[in-house]
Amino acid sequence: REVRLMRYTNLPAETRDGKLIFLKANIEIPEEVDSVLSHGADGVGLYRSEFLFLQSGSIPDEETQYRVYSQVLEALPGKTVTIRTLDIGGDKLFPGRFDHQDKNPILGWRAIRLCLSETDLFRTQLRALLRASAHGKLRIMFPMVSGIEELNQVLALYDSVVEELHREAVPMAAYIPVGIMIEIPSAAVVSDVLAKRVDFFSIGTNDLIQYTLAVDRGNERVAYLYEPFHPAVLRLLTTIIRNAHANGIPVAMCGEMAGDPLATLILLGLGLDEFSMGAAAIPEVKQILRNVTLLEAEELVGTIMDMKSHDEIQSYVAQLMEKRF
Ligand code: PEP
Ligand code: MG
Repeated sequence: REVRLMRYTNLPAETRDGKLIFLKANIEIPEEVDSVLSHGADGVGLYRSEFLFLQSGSIPDEETQYRVYSQVLEALPGKTVTIRTLDIGGDKLFPGRFDHQDKNPILGWRAIRLCLSETDLFRTQLRALLRASAHGKLRIMFPMVSGIEELNQVLALYDSVVEELHREAVPMAAYIPVGIMIEIPSAAVVSDVLAKRVDFFSIGTNDLIQYTLAVDRGNERVAYLYEPFHPAVLRLLTTIIRNAHANGIPVAMCGEMAGDPLATLILLGLGLDEFSMGAAAIPEVKQILRNVTLLEAEELVGTIMDMKSHDEIQSYVAQLMEKRF
């Protein structure tokens, strides 16, 4: 099966009626760039930078981070690499300095919240990223933004680091798109406001579903309630994509849902511009995209948006995919 799908590696993810979709890869360590290339990814849609910290068990200094980020950018010439700033805390506990005991870690001191209070750590990472930007096509993405005050704070800090490097005459890329993950329901709801301040969105469905449905993404006992096709989730996706496009910015998705072949048609029909997933999932999603039309995907979305339950939507899509593929 894999071998048959690999025929698609060098072909674009273009629907039969000409809609071109970007298929990108999620990576956690630099060694994965080989797999990014061999699976025909259009770039990296999510590089989880926290693994550099978690793996080494200590906080890498600016030089170390600069070298690693540059190495990834240089290994993928001409391809966009989206690096997400530190997302520790929550389920990714860091030994030592940040092994705090929040009562509710998933709702606690994590990701951008942690970075905005530990600004030395955050500034060091931003300096390393900006310096690395001279080595390829970098996009920077901030995790777990919940609203406009937080975003303004992040962007002000980012701008001050950019200015600092300008003053030091450090070479940087002329243009570095800056975006945010939409993975907290409040951010999805006010995405019209947030879209005016950033260059792109990337939807993190792993967390967005968890927070929307109040279901711990790692808890087996409630896993049956973790429903990507829940109408509440689909309505939020609709809102996010509509608000982004109304403000002229593209929308990616880098949560697991982006690599689920059952979700491909729905996401296409909702207008998603970019899908990012584990590289191994790319060939199958590409095969689906190349064999459908945007029109039929939009019709499918029209149909399922009138349905009232996850089960109804899920079985309708499963039947359709069974018939078509
Ligand atoms: C997500 O939440 O969907 C996501 C991509 O980020 P992570 O899985 O690293 O939380
Ligand atoms: Mg997340």
